[in-house]
Amino acid sequence: MTITPLMPVYPRCGVRPVRGDHCHLIGEDGTRYLDFASGIAVNVLGHSHPHLIAAIQHQAATLMHVSNLYGSPQGEAVARRLTELTFADTVFFTNSGAEAVECAIKTARAWHSHGGHPERHELITFSNAFHGRTMATISASDQEKMHKGFLPLLPGFRYAPFDDLAAAQALIGPQTAGFLVEPIQGEGGIRDGSVEFIQGLRKLADAHGLLLIFDEVQCGVARTGTFYAYEQYGITPDILATAKGIGGGFPLGACLATEDAARGMVIGTHGSTYGGNPLAMAAASAVLDVVANEEFLAGVRATAARLRARIEQFIGNYPDLFDLVRGRGLMLGIRLKIEPRAFVAHLRDRHQLLTVAAGDQTVRILPPLVIDDTHIDEFIARLSAGAASFSAESPV
Ligand SMILES: *Cc1c(COP(=O)(O)O)cnc(C)c1O
Repeated sequence: MTITPLMPVYPRCGVRPVRGDHCHLIGEDGTRYLDFASGIAVNVLGHSHPHLIAAIQHQAATLMHVSNLYGSPQGEAVARRLTELTFADTVFFTNSGAEAVECAIKTARAWHSHGGHPERHELITFSNAFHGRTMATISASDQEKMHKGFLPLLPGFRYAPFDDLAAAQALIGPQTAGFLVEPIQGEGGIRDGSVEFIQGLRKLADAHGLLLIFDEVQCGVARTGTFYAYEQYGITPDILATAKGIGGGFPLGACLATEDAARGMVIGTHGSTYGGNPLAMAAASAVLDVVANEEFLAGVRATAARLRARIEQFIGNYPDLFDLVRGRGLMLGIRLKIEPRAFVAHLRDRHQLLTVAAGDQTVRILPPLVIDDTHIDEFIARLSAGAASFSAESPV
């Protein structure tokens, strides 16, 4: 037998973390890494936050799981907090981001179906989007590398170039149900949609009786300095998928919707065995306790401004390696002038700095939201040493 015990779908690197210590990870061999990847925007409170640990420990000893056939005081409490914090009136809890997007897709189709227009099943999505790895969510992306070997795709998705309002408008037809968009693309390379584009989608949705769905799985939960990124665009979506940061490391997602948008999601239309179980709700509740307040959000914005200024100042030293910095809050990308993977590996293996490669030659910087100036100093020192040794070894 040559197959690995873990199905070999990931190109796993040599870092093998066994312990977390605030904003650092400790490997099997004792190596200590600065974690500016956060499990891909998941560990918003870092790795050993006492409030999150205590909440999970306490709930594990009290009640871990019950069926959604029973009433859920734990779920109601978290859902109420989310609806008070956002545009939404109602919440469906899932165990992952892809499932949250799946629920959003079903909610949009059901809305039209319920309104007497079952033919309006098609969502307009955008180039280089990432919505997850289920059949529906890979079908929602135009990225062929995710489709290969898995055809046929699910029908009902049409792709427009990201940030191109006229192209999106041109795809609207009698079958259109709405738009599904990441306001700030993550895997696509930390590209934020322009205000004109995002506001334009809202206007088009209103004018044509369509739904606007935001995939904030990566950019949500305080990552960009507001609780959700849509707040920075001066509009609200009808449906929003969230996950990653919302459990702080506990697997949890949610589909948020207005009362109107959820009109088709009636008894028997959807479900999840684990979704929103008491243990997950304890984790979410602890995360919200920390991040869902103006003081914390202002702190994220201030920290992000300092980090970004340092990166922007630094990258000028290596004009052949670095192109530009983009993103919002603590969802930052450094676009390189080369493919990013070798540089990300170099930072990781030679300088114990964890970042994540993304599309469009971009290195993603996604630190825990609880970093302070010592972590920024350490990051710049490691990045600087990494850029120097990388340039010396592989001149570009
Ligand atoms: C990570 C991600 C997903 C998928 O989340 P999973 O938990 O891996 O299923 C969906 N959309 C966006 C924008 C993401 O970044």
